[in-house]
Amino acid sequence: MKPGDEITCPKCGRNSFLKKVAILDGWTKKGEILACASCSAKIADVPAHGQTKQQAAHQASALAAFLNENETPIKTRIEAGESEKRFCRDCTHFIKHPFGDKCGLHDRNVNPMDDCGDFKRKE
Ligand SMILES: [Zn+2]
Repeated sequence: MKPGDEITCPKCGRNSFLKKVAILDGWTKKGEILACASCSAKIADVPAHGQTKQQAAHQASALAAFLNENETPIKTRIEAGESEKRFCRDCTHFIKHPFGDKCGLHDRNVNPMDDCGDFKRKE
């Protein structure tokens, strides 16, 4: 059954046709039914798979996009950390100091786990 199909309405008995009616819950569309065009009696539910599948696919791709967006930087960070390990504590300019570790090159306080563009591996 689809909108526009001719029916003999079981409710009002008239020769009528099906119309699609949205079921609203406040402003939220909850679904659609096929109803008699004459008396608006519900004749059938509108099969929702098509729409639901589309929505699910949309959500899945949105989720994938979301995951990709968030996955890439994390992955890059881990790879950079494991393959390069440009931490200040391994740098030749790193000066361990009881009142705060310093960078001898930039003459500023640094954290051992900082990374730096001027990193030079300690011999
Ligand atoms: Zn009817």
